Amino acid sequence: MSKLENLTPERVFHFFEEISAIHRGSGDMEAISQYCIDFAKKHNLRYYTDELRNVVIFKDGSKGYEDAQPVILQGHLDMVCQKTEESTIDFLKEGLDIYVDGDFVKAKNTTLGADNGIAVSMVLAILESDTIAHPPIEAIFTTDEETGMYGAKALDMSILKGKRMVNIDSEEEDCITVSCAGGSDFKATKKHERISKTGDKVNLTLKGLRGGHSGIEINSGKLNANKIIGKALSVLAHELDFEIISINGGDKPNAITNRCEVELCVSGEYEEVITSVLNDIKAEFTDAEKGLVFEVKIEKNCECETFGEELTTCITEILATTPNGVIKMSENIENLVETSLNLGVLYTDDDELVLHYALRSNKKAGLLKLEDEMVEFFKKYNFEIKTFGHYPPWEYREDSAMRDMYKELYCEDFGKKPRVEAIHAGLECGVFASQIEDFDCIAIGPNIFDAHTVNERLSIKSTQAVFDTIVKLLAKMQ
Ligand SMILES: [Zn+2]
Repeated sequence: MSKLENLTPERVFHFFEEISAIHRGSGDMEAISQYCIDFAKKHNLRYYTDELRNVVIFKDGSKGYEDAQPVILQGHLDMVCQKTEESTIDFLKEGLDIYVDGDFVKAKNTTLGADNGIAVSMVLAILESDTIAHPPIEAIFTTDEETGMYGAKALDMSILKGKRMVNIDSEEEDCITVSCAGGSDFKATKKHERISKTGDKVNLTLKGLRGGHSGIEINSGKLNANKIIGKALSVLAHELDFEIISINGGDKPNAITNRCEVELCVSGEYEEVITSVLNDIKAEFTDAEKGLVFEVKIEKNCECETFGEELTTCITEILATTPNGVIKMSENIENLVETSLNLGVLYTDDDELVLHYALRSNKKAGLLKLEDEMVEFFKKYNFEIKTFGHYPPWEYREDSAMRDMYKELYCEDFGKKPRVEAIHAGLECGVFASQIEDFDCIAIGPNIFDAHTVNERLSIKSTQAVFDTIVKLLAKMQ
């Protein structure tokens, strides 16, 4: 007997159960992609697939909607695979053990993959139906979204006619997402020779910060350890004679750095000064980061290989003055960070110093401007600069028929206004926005809690409600 048999919308949960039985972690797209192709064949629907195993299924408009503008319905096929310690699942071979618990569908000891299996299920249910009224549909199932939106980036969009899109990869039913950030990596490198110096080796470690996502949480008050160490060095530089031996903070540009360690070669009297400076800094930032601690270790009389006086001054100045965090707030959308950056990775190795930032903006022009400003900032220090890893933003549209229609339907169905939000992180919508002219899109979806974790759960009630609203939206798209 099927596990989701009594749930509604019945066909949505039917497909959800079927795809939950198919292994489909990112990078393992063959089986789920084939499932979609088989579906298209079985229902005599034209389809397209490519090397990355994206699948696009086309369906004509229903009666009376034949000549309407097409709509793109979109979700991704891959899921994040997480399991508990006791789980014995082999994600490359096995499906999930799903079950119902009150209003939730869950998977035993693993992620559920409702992100984004619920989009796939809803769209298949719509494609299968001969009672739902709809304009011509271009259903797009992308691959490997979770690891870098590879499917969407590689998809040949010239096969599409649709300019309006419903992305179903949002996880809060009361929220319509209308814009996402684009971004790039910015790396500044400086080669340098080591200089021998005798002195005490002082190791300062800053730890206990919360860390977080450098897009969504950039305005949450979480502090970047690299910036605080920069502040400490710049205050110490007024009172002490030191040279940097090494500095290391963070390993991902898109994570707010929660730890930074610097090793100094110091001469003269310094212990009291260091204690007092670190105490002051701790006092200054402790409200924002309660767990903040400094650890100091000292080794007397060492032969040190430092970066020398000049580069020490340069690193100190850069860390103290580098732009970091929120650069600009949006003028259109309340509380949205429009442009930001995060110094997520900072390290020295034998002969070089590297600073690696994640840059973001919900506007293309904002990202370009920030890149220019960073190039300008590093110019005076003679660093080698590289920008790479670009992904495009999905800009907010003043006039959006999609947003207006869904908003109105939501108000009718849910008896309250939805939140209209932009997110300061990348979505597949950005990739579509960059290639489809006059693109009009919303990102929506039913309530999914704790996605990407073993506690991931999908609300059944919310799935019903959001699906009903999508069906009504299609009917309006004449
Ligand atoms: Zn997703």
